[in-house]
Amino acid sequence: MAPRRWRRQERIALLGQRAGWVCQLCFEPVDPSLSGNHPDGATADHVIPRSMGGTSEPGNLRLAHRRCNEKLASPAHRSARVFLEAGVVPPARSAVN
Ligand SMILES: [Zn+2]
Repeated sequence: MAPRRWRRQERIALLGQRAGWVCQLCFEPVDPSLSGNHPDGATADHVIPRSMGGTSEPGNLRLAHRRCNEKLASPAHRSARVFLEAGVVPPARSAVN
C-alpha cells in the first residue's frame, strides 16, 4: 500500500516512537504532549534538507525539538549541522516495514 501524505501528528508519532522520544539533535527527551509550536515541542527535522533535494518521507526525517530544529536551520549554526550530520546515521529503511 503506497503511503498517502501523512498528517503531521502521525509523522511526529512515528518519528517519536522510532527515536524513543529523544531529540536526535541534542539527545534530550522530547515531551510528546507539547504542541509543535512550543520551543521544546516535537518537530520533524529533515536529515537531508529539502533545499538539497531531501524528501519528506520517514527515512529522511528525525525527531527534533523545535528550538533545535530552528537553531540548525540558521546560517550561524550551519557548521554545527555539518558536524551533527557527520555523526548521525540516517534512519534505516527498515522503518518502512
Ligand atoms: Zn533537542
